Amino acid sequence: MADVPAGSDRPTPPLPYDYEAPVSRRLFDRAEAVIPGGVNSPVRAFQAVGGTPRFISSAAGAYLTDADGRRYVDLVCSWGPMVLGHAHPAVVEAVREAALSGTSFGAPTEAEVLLAEEIVARTPTEQVRLVNSGTEATMSAVRLARGVTGRRLLVKFAGCYHGHVDALLAAAGSGVATLALPDTPGVTGAQTGETIVLPYNDIAAVEKTFAELGDQIAAVITEAAAGNMGVVAPRDGFNAKLRELTTKHGALLIMDEVMTGFRVSRSGWYGLDPVVPDLVTYAKVMGGGLPAAAFGGRADVMASLAPAGPVYQAGTLSGNPLATAAGLATLRECTDAVYAQLDRTSAILQDLVTKALSAAGVAYRISTAGNMFGVFFTDTDVRDYDTARETNTAAYKAFFHSMLASGVYLPPSAYECWFVSTALGGTELELIEAALPAAAVAAGAAA
Ligand SMILES: *Cc1c(COP(=O)(O)O)cnc(C)c1O
Repeated sequence: MADVPAGSDRPTPPLPYDYEAPVSRRLFDRAEAVIPGGVNSPVRAFQAVGGTPRFISSAAGAYLTDADGRRYVDLVCSWGPMVLGHAHPAVVEAVREAALSGTSFGAPTEAEVLLAEEIVARTPTEQVRLVNSGTEATMSAVRLARGVTGRRLLVKFAGCYHGHVDALLAAAGSGVATLALPDTPGVTGAQTGETIVLPYNDIAAVEKTFAELGDQIAAVITEAAAGNMGVVAPRDGFNAKLRELTTKHGALLIMDEVMTGFRVSRSGWYGLDPVVPDLVTYAKVMGGGLPAAAFGGRADVMASLAPAGPVYQAGTLSGNPLATAAGLATLRECTDAVYAQLDRTSAILQDLVTKALSAAGVAYRISTAGNMFGVFFTDTDVRDYDTARETNTAAYKAFFHSMLASGVYLPPSAYECWFVSTALGGTELELIEAALPAAAVAAGAAA
């Protein structure tokens, strides 16, 4: 915690590109001895961009402070959850109060009812079950879909990531794309053998699959708008067509809103593209930075879940009081005005990036899904996993490090979304604007 005066709201001055972050480096060395790869989730290790991952010691509002005492404007937002910025007073107070009343009971609480009511009121779900992570939500939704339909096959799209569920770790984007693992050891052919992977945004491929195997397909699972192969929005009518085909063939539609839910609108992608799925998954924003997630949907489908029905699902810490309090406090803050502000901030930021990259003469595409966006270094439109993988990751790497040296923390991978928060204000946008030209030039030189 070296050179930053308390209460300073600005990052420390720009550093050389190859700055070592010595305290983080020492922590990373120690971490590598006791934690595989030094991290508890792969993309944090900076493997895709090189260099030393920053160990974060604290965060407030729009800023992260690392162990070397450097401050960064945060455009990762914990990979989505921190929609109100870090340590938001209402969220901190809710968690503090909950903690004082006991941290876990293994018995139902009123707060769980309130959070479920809030989610049901905002989304197309009629009932929800609370769990602890997005992975758990999609895993449980898939099991429920198979249990309800009595069918075995599952359709997913290449580049869509639904957490590290065995059956869904086939062409799964994100960390998997970054590490270029076509598949992962430890997942057997039997586990993915009932998963059909189709190209994203290719409705003809879905039609063909349903024509051949329609009576065996339990569910189609899709990211409501893809954000794990970089941001790739569904083409107009893609999700609606999935709805039509699944209904026609008696399969369920599972909309994975783990990233988009409560981020791009009051409900999520549903607010921008109101296709009603049978099941939806949520996590990230709905936990307000604590581990809370949910899956939900049609009451008649959810009625098959234990103890109401035969499909088993459970969790010792599900509906945990701290996580529930953080989630509820966050959602209560997320009014229409908040989403209007996030949309405005995102548009301004996209504008700044456009200006800088155009001025530097770099080939790029800004890809958006509501207020989520990302930058691909490419001169072709990105519509699916194959086109995403053709983009120039070396240019992104140079861009990333230049921004980091200037005090802006971007996702350490070319295949991740940039996230805005309500804590990003004029000061932070100016800082980003000042950092962009050098980064654009660095990207151009690396391209
Ligand atoms: C992050 C993510 C998940 C996995 O959530 P975890 O909480 O990391 O398990 C699933 N689906 C999508 C779309 C995600 O972005």
